[in-house]
Amino acid sequence: MRSRCIWTPCKVLTPLSFKPSSFFTFSFSKQLLLPDKSIAAISSTRRGISSYPSLMASSPSLKDSVSTQNESTQKTQQPLQVAKRLEKFKTTIFTQMSSLAIKHGAINLGQGFPNFDGPEFVKEAAIQAIKDGKNQYARGYGVPDFSSAIAERFKKDTGLVVDPEKEITVTSGCTEAIAATMLGLINPGDEVILFAPFYDSYEATLSMAGAKIKCITLRPPDFAVPIDELKSAITQDTRAVLINTPHNPTGKMFSREELSTIASLCIENDVLVFTDEVYDKLAFEMDHISMASLPGMYERTVTLNSLGKTFSLTGWKIGWAIAPPHLTWGVRQAHSFLTFATSTPMQWAAAVALRAPESYYVELKRDYMAKKEILVEGLKAVGFKVFPSSGTYFVVVDHTPFGLENDIAFCEYLIKEVGVVAIPTSVFYLNPEDGKNLVRFTFCKDEGTLRAAVDRMKEKLKRK
Ligand code: GLN
Repeated sequence: MRSRCIWTPCKVLTPLSFKPSSFFTFSFSKQLLLPDKSIAAISSTRRGISSYPSLMASSPSLKDSVSTQNESTQKTQQPLQVAKRLEKFKTTIFTQMSSLAIKHGAINLGQGFPNFDGPEFVKEAAIQAIKDGKNQYARGYGVPDFSSAIAERFKKDTGLVVDPEKEITVTSGCTEAIAATMLGLINPGDEVILFAPFYDSYEATLSMAGAKIKCITLRPPDFAVPIDELKSAITQDTRAVLINTPHNPTGKMFSREELSTIASLCIENDVLVFTDEVYDKLAFEMDHISMASLPGMYERTVTLNSLGKTFSLTGWKIGWAIAPPHLTWGVRQAHSFLTFATSTPMQWAAAVALRAPESYYVELKRDYMAKKEILVEGLKAVGFKVFPSSGTYFVVVDHTPFGLENDIAFCEYLIKEVGVVAIPTSVFYLNPEDGKNLVRFTFCKDEGTLRAAVDRMKEKLKRK
């Protein structure tokens, strides 16, 4: 029987209509949009968070749903519809916070995108490729020259020689590589282990794949992997462990010891590893280690990466997955029917990017270390407890010295009263309570912007 939505046309807040006074009193009720009671039950127990404040109304509102209609047509209040596999998810926190930054004229240290441009030589290469007529569909799994450039880069970074024809799949950003990996290699009911806090798309794509998620929480100050918990989480139904190093949002980098222990457990239990390494070139305090390079691991690892962070071109959406042929098969099958192929001229330009001289990477790191210093020292001076970040362009802080109830209340205050945007981390946990003291700032902004944000916080944020 088709499920029926109960739509109550009541106050539904969108990021743009969000009012601070209702921030806590209004907890967006998922039940409003839920098709039936059984789903409501799943939803309310899923995060165990019925009491946790939701960040504004984060589902698209009725207003959003009708705003695309022609004004002259009769507007009926249609209930929003979404397949069960996605109904528990909200508008991403990055979309919400960037909208709020614009609305309140706040400095956006939330969503991780540089406010400066990518390198000229890469942009020129894209223009040239377009002019040269490289504008029709690319080969589905990647422009051959770009696949070769990825293989060359991977060899330099890890020492591993891979066959670009059989072991590399080019995707539309790493987000698609993540989705293709989950959908191409995970069966409904398979267990997948995640480490919280985790990047939001992992949970959503695992949900689309029908996976059963098991979550292990990394805790401050060092966010170390609790090996015993991992050992007891792995069962015969475990299909994969997903890691992210350097890690978003904490900046943690998995140590060789942690990676080796995870590797041994995966080999012992015949488990795959999916490893998101998009921040590999932003490794400041230690060398990045690719899981695939550990003994016995290449054959059970899918390495996910992208162009966006390394070349400050997050809008190009060029990513890739590297895996042995038997795993690449699954990734490619999903990719074929998700997007089929990725932008042709951008792949040609991306090949030029990946062949950048080593000096490019050295300079990138130097620039980011200077930015990190400004933000980290600034945040300390403001009075935050700053947790060490070894890589990525993020840093996580404890906001509790300022006396706000939780991360969402703090971020609300920071936007409205101080004029700075950060990301509340509770959205990156299965149990949001685990992230209630932590917020994430990004330093992928020009130095003037970082200093201005710190100045605003110094002036207006007072310890309680
Ligand atoms: N990866 C970026 C971040 O963590 C956001 C990407 C997105 O908006 N989906 O800030």
